[in-house]
Amino acid sequence: MDYKLLIEKAALKNAYTHDGKADVGSVMNKILGEFPEERKNAGKLAAIVKEIVAEINAMPQEQQKSVISEKYPDILVVEKKEQEHRLHDLKNVNGPVVMRMAPSPSGPLHLGHSRMAILNDEYVKRYGGRLILRIEDTNPQNIDPAAYGMIPKDLEWLGVNTTDIVIQSDRFDLYYTRAKELIRMGVAYLCSCDVNVFKDLLMKGEACPHRGLSPEANLERFQLAIDGKSTEKSPVLVIKTDIKHPNPSVRDWIAFRKISGSHPRTGTKYSFYPMMNFSVAIDDHELGLTHVIRGSDHISNTEKQKYLFRYFGWKIPEYFHYGTISIPDSILKTSIVKKGILDGTYSGWDDVRLQTIGALKRRGYQPETFRRYWIESGLREVNAEFSWDIFNSINRQIIDANADRFFFVSNPISVKISGSPAILARIPRYQGKPERGFREYRIAADSNVYISKDDLMNIKDGEKIRLKDLYNVIYRNGSFTYSETEPSREKIKIIHWCPPESSAFTVEGPDGSLDEGLLEPLAHEITGIFQFERYGFINKTSSARGIYIHN
Ligand code: GLU
Repeated sequence: MDYKLLIEKAALKNAYTHDGKADVGSVMNKILGEFPEERKNAGKLAAIVKEIVAEINAMPQEQQKSVISEKYPDILVVEKKEQEHRLHDLKNVNGPVVMRMAPSPSGPLHLGHSRMAILNDEYVKRYGGRLILRIEDTNPQNIDPAAYGMIPKDLEWLGVNTTDIVIQSDRFDLYYTRAKELIRMGVAYLCSCDVNVFKDLLMKGEACPHRGLSPEANLERFQLAIDGKSTEKSPVLVIKTDIKHPNPSVRDWIAFRKISGSHPRTGTKYSFYPMMNFSVAIDDHELGLTHVIRGSDHISNTEKQKYLFRYFGWKIPEYFHYGTISIPDSILKTSIVKKGILDGTYSGWDDVRLQTIGALKRRGYQPETFRRYWIESGLREVNAEFSWDIFNSINRQIIDANADRFFFVSNPISVKISGSPAILARIPRYQGKPERGFREYRIAADSNVYISKDDLMNIKDGEKIRLKDLYNVIYRNGSFTYSETEPSREKIKIIHWCPPESSAFTVEGPDGSLDEGLLEPLAHEITGIFQFERYGFINKTSSARGIYIHN
């Protein structure tokens, strides 16, 4: 048995989990653990291990990583056992928790949202309790009415178990009531300074003239604003904090502002709208949130919101701010996607070039892939970059076992195999699992088969190659001759092929490109996730078309 590849893989894995330095002893233990019968050859084995470990340790970590991604991507996937420790416990859990996801209905959810949805869901599963979906629709200028339906559907597909749905635009009266209480307490005032004047004063740590008005005067002015009868120029309701707070953004902050136009759910009934910090803080209390996990971009917002909790004497939830994750090669910004859909650049929210949940679902990613990825990446304060390599590896592990294999020849050319016998080709649906059955094709004597021009270009004159699970052929002077049926003892190139009666098939790439080719007949009628051998995993959506998932 050739242990070299196994040793290389074990050494790379050991190096990957130990800052780029593999350890000879650990690699030996791993190999001997798997192959105890080799203990008698331990001396010889140790010499090989030493040599391979030295080679791997000499590589820069970046190079190790690229070899891993290319040859052993499953190393990147953390084992299930390790996974459980990735999500550290939340602080101050005393019994069941109440947590929430709070997306704006500007469009459907995307890959980035799946992180907060799944992490919240995991914690509620761990501790028991409630998981609230709170749709934050207090900015009518940023709403796609269809999103009210798409968001719960996306969550359902992701397997996120929402216990309650709350829509903020149902709660204006609550927000107004709470705002009036704050005005009465003397900690909120209506300001109608020019916005730049107001900002300049705050930067200097100075109060505006409205800050000192009486609660009664402010209540009256606020009532006019919510009734749409204020004659003041652009009134806003402001929450008093510390006018000299070291973080200028925490100094007196705006809680309500006027927005004209219609809201898809409330029409023109309300025009004085709560800002995110106000409605979020009120709802986090009213809904009994025990733990809030949110992005580190909300750190200042948390500070602002805590003022409301303190004014009302409410218990402050336990906050955790996770680092942001940048997702390379992605188009996530809803406004850009929306514009693209409107101008015809994208076919819809589930266009394969997008990273919405709907698009990734259509591509063939599994709900479990999202969950495992986000659990593995953990709940951490540091910013990080999303890894498509790892995401794809996890997905590959999940889909591989159920994916039958087929031959798809892209860029096909028909080639005659002179001297070939009539033969019944039996190709396993899944290598190594005969119980899954075979794809059987009768290939006539001297038949033509299709191969890819890309493969043809790499065959040298005089070279012998194997047409997988068919026979060996020799290529000479631009034509193929049958050589023998049995697999060759020497190592030769193996390429895939398609029988003459194959049909046209198009693979849509994640960049929207189309790869036209031929698909073997038995794959024609069925749909689902398959592996096209030497090509990649495909979500076959119809008889003649499929979407490329990953290699
Ligand atoms: N809707 C806000 C957001 O998605 C609220 C999040 C939060 O308060 O944690 O950014």
